[in-house]
Amino acid sequence: MSNTSLKDVLYDKSYVCPVCNRKFTSKTIKLGKNQVVSVDLDLYPHYSLVNPLLYDILFCEFCGYAATSKNFDTLLPKQKEWIRNQICSNYKSHTFSEFVTTEEAIYKHKMALLACLTKKGKVGEQAYIALHIAWLYRDLEDTENEIAFLERAYDGFSTALSTERFPILGLDEITTMYMLAALAYKLGKPIEAKKYLGSVLTTAGISERVKDRALDLKTILNQE
Ligand SMILES: [Zn+2]
Repeated sequence: MSNTSLKDVLYDKSYVCPVCNRKFTSKTIKLGKNQVVSVDLDLYPHYSLVNPLLYDILFCEFCGYAATSKNFDTLLPKQKEWIRNQICSNYKSHTFSEFVTTEEAIYKHKMALLACLTKKGKVGEQAYIALHIAWLYRDLEDTENEIAFLERAYDGFSTALSTERFPILGLDEITTMYMLAALAYKLGKPIEAKKYLGSVLTTAGISERVKDRALDLKTILNQE
C-alpha cells in the first residue's frame, strides 16, 4: 500500500510513557476503514488496508519500554522499577520508519515480550505477544521463526488455561482452547489438537463463529 493511502488510514496519537514519563506519538488505525478479508486457521486476521499488528505495540523510543496498546499503562510501581533497571539502563535509542515495516514490528513485539517477562507478567500475556510475533514471521515466510514462536505461544496458552484467569487481553477461554487446537495441529500434535477441539465442541453455549471454525478444523483433522 502506498504511503499516501496509509496516511488516510493512520493518525498520530499522543502517549505518556509510564516508565520515563516522556511524551511520544504513535500511529493508530482509524476505525471502520480497515476490514477483515480472511482469517487463518489459528485466527490470524488479514485486513483490507493495513495489518493492525504493525501498530499494536506502543514503544517508547526514549527508554525502550514497550507493551501492547491494551496493557501499556497498567504497571505497578515495583514493575516500573524492574523495567528501569533491566531494560532502560541498557537501552540504546532506536528510531523507526514513519510507517512500520514487518521487521520493525517484530523488534517492537520482542521488546514488549522482554518487558512482559521483566515485569513478571502473566504467562497468557507472554503467549499472546509470542503468537503475534509468529504471525509476523508468517508474513515474512520465515517458517523456522514462525514455528519457534508458535511453540512458545502454545506452551504459554496451555499453561495459562489451567493457571490464569480469563479473558487475557480480550481472549476468552473458549477461543483460547480453539486456538490451542489449531496451534497443536500446525505444530504436528494431532492428539492434543483433538483433545482441545473436543473441549471446545462439548462446551455449552459457544458462539456459532467459534463452533463453525471448530467443525472445519475437525474435518481437516479427520482427513489426516
Ligand atoms: Zn519511556
